[in-house]
Amino acid sequence: MLHRINIQTKSRVEFQDITLQVKNAVAKSSLKSGICHVVTLHTTSAITVNENADPDVVKDMIDELNSLVPQHSLYRHREGNSPAHIKASIIGNSASLIVEDGTLLLGTWQGIFFCEFDGPRNRTVLVKVISDSP
Ligand code: ZN
Repeated sequence: MLHRINIQTKSRVEFQDITLQVKNAVAKSSLKSGICHVVTLHTTSAITVNENADPDVVKDMIDELNSLVPQHSLYRHREGNSPAHIKASIIGNSASLIVEDGTLLLGTWQGIFFCEFDGPRNRTVLVKVISDSP
């Protein structure tokens, strides 16, 4: 089963908590036990799993990524969004999560984030759930 999550971002760089949308996709799949893959289809966005309790964690992550990869440097890419491509590859384009007894297993403080690095844009995230039963 493949589920699409449509995301509208509002800033050039932002993280959106998509945990609820992913949980809803797992619920619709009726999967009891298996793996849930969450994948962004874009080269300037990423998926990460991290703390969603304190919003300052996301702010710190964004600030440090911006420090690591400055907006202006001697980039060659003519489109002008090399920092977004680099940040996307640092974080990665997907997350794999375990589903057991129909529940997406996340730690108490964990949430799933869509990471925008070249917004604002309309984005698509795919959720693919794979059963471990034949
Ligand atoms: Zn580009």
